[in-house]
Amino acid sequence: MTEDQNNSNEIMDEMRPSTDMDLLTIQNAVTKMLSAFGENPSRKGLLRTPERVASMYTELLSGYRVDPNKIVKDALFEVTYDEMVIVRDIEFYSMCEHHMLPFMGRAHVAYLPDGKVIGLSKIPRIVDVFAHRLQVQERMTRQIADFLSDLLKPQGVAVVVEAMHLCSMMRGVKKQNARMTTSAMHGAFRANLAPRQEFLANISRGASPLQM
Ligand SMILES: [Zn+2]
Repeated sequence: MTEDQNNSNEIMDEMRPSTDMDLLTIQNAVTKMLSAFGENPSRKGLLRTPERVASMYTELLSGYRVDPNKIVKDALFEVTYDEMVIVRDIEFYSMCEHHMLPFMGRAHVAYLPDGKVIGLSKIPRIVDVFAHRLQVQERMTRQIADFLSDLLKPQGVAVVVEAMHLCSMMRGVKKQNARMTTSAMHGAFRANLAPRQEFLANISRGASPLQM
């Protein structure tokens, strides 16, 4: 087994669809919604839809039941390295809590270590834990930054999230707001211009605009 396969299996374990979500209640609610739309929930194409939707939510919203501390527990290292660590273009999919429609895009994470670093592959997994919940983009951005801040006690943490919101795009209102960028800057990234600029320059290098 390659290391890649190993990693993706671990992710499957961590983000395993929940067994304690109340599937039956979701299924019943979806059936009611289908009727309310004017559909016939017993027609062939819709017969298993409530079941599929319920099972889909256990996956899309698995982040409530994952403890990010467990993900990182074997991946923290003491080092003397104090240069900026950047992980950019982390693809994520989340769900807007106002409309329960997806928003998706990429997250960029940087920190300036202070004696402690985390395995690089863990950062996208931390992003996923917070993305797989009903979210607003601003809070998700802050939660990722706060978690890394508490975990690593670094000199600084910066998180920038760019996303497209289907609730804006599909509804044809305020299309100009369909793409949104949020950021959270802690410590040295907030206090000093130089690290902030280095991070922002890095993530804009060769960056293409978000597209569907
Ligand atoms: Zn929304």
